[in-house]
Amino acid sequence: MSVALLVVAGYPADRLASQAAKPDSFRLKALAILRTVPLIDGHNDIPDAIRERGGLDAVDFSVSQPKLMTDLPRIRAGAMGGQFWAAYVPVTTMDSGPHPAVYALEQIDLVHRLCARHSGSMAMAYTAADVQRNFAAGRFSCLIGIEGGHAIENSLGALRMFYRLGVRYLTLTHWRSLDWAVASTDTARRGLSAFGKQVVLEMNRLGMLVDLSHVNDVTMSDALHTSRAPIIFSHSSARALTDHARDVPDSILKLVPANGGIVMVNFNPGFVSEAVRAYGDSTSAWARALRAAGADSATRADSMRAWDARAPHATLRQVADHIEHIRQVAGVDYVGIGSDFDGITEVPDGLEDVSKFPDLIAELLRRGWTELDVKKVAGLNILRVMRAAERVAAGLQRTAR
Ligand SMILES: [Zn+2]
Repeated sequence: MSVALLVVAGYPADRLASQAAKPDSFRLKALAILRTVPLIDGHNDIPDAIRERGGLDAVDFSVSQPKLMTDLPRIRAGAMGGQFWAAYVPVTTMDSGPHPAVYALEQIDLVHRLCARHSGSMAMAYTAADVQRNFAAGRFSCLIGIEGGHAIENSLGALRMFYRLGVRYLTLTHWRSLDWAVASTDTARRGLSAFGKQVVLEMNRLGMLVDLSHVNDVTMSDALHTSRAPIIFSHSSARALTDHARDVPDSILKLVPANGGIVMVNFNPGFVSEAVRAYGDSTSAWARALRAAGADSATRADSMRAWDARAPHATLRQVADHIEHIRQVAGVDYVGIGSDFDGITEVPDGLEDVSKFPDLIAELLRRGWTELDVKKVAGLNILRVMRAAERVAAGLQRTAR
């Protein structure tokens, strides 16, 4: 960045001088901070990425995996303290193939086995206290969240058993609506059904976090008004900055403080850059137009390659902008990080994989964030949410068995 730009951005001259002398000072400070507080990411799809490649015997997590965004060497380089691994369940399991519940069980099994294989550096965590204990012992915490409420197959018994298997959040829907919850891709102006509200309350009683990433705005609002415990958005950004249905509108962000929940910012370029999102829409329209005009497949491929070459990129700074927007609308206590690494196919410039988290923390420090505030974003906020949900569950279990 040029000196002129920095002055325009309002940086004092003495800060300018020290920045020029020590270009990595913010990154070093970020790394020092992440030695004192566990950085916990809300959503990572490595379980399904490993499954697709043939399972744990086909992917050695302890060495660098250049085609993936996540492995142990880069987790260490990224100074991470813990991860909610996604037990992702494709919506196609609702039509054919293994039952959604079986698919979820296999993903949960994979996480437990992955963690056990690397027990020297990783350990399972089921509570905020587990995360803190693991962190103090120098171990990375493995947490589990199921992505897709179809996994419970409309059974509260299945939901309760998933809790026993270590699942600590359930994303109510994925890309397709259920009988009891409406997805963000749906135009229906409905939210949670009576059974959907029962699912939320049972999750509260168990101490399983209600994850509202992927649901539509009505379901977000219904869940916020039903839940007795803080909710989470495990991987969603701010819709005021990028007009995508997967992002959270300001009207919902304003409800989060009273609920005590958290919005963990997604890195998906199409969710963090309005230019990328709009470009994606126009690319789809162009592809449809080519097909309608009867272009052959070679012509279509050439045309799409040329189109792709002009595609805009999202950046680390835009991700930081989303974090700052949520801080501004909801408050610094209600924002976190939910990268969606290995679930996304494109990445922002500067946030290519899990080793880059310290760069994001450094960017916030560069913008003048206090040490305490970056600690909140990195991990303190989600730990507070977990503790609060644990307290609510303990209270409800005393009164309702
Ligand atoms: Zn997702």
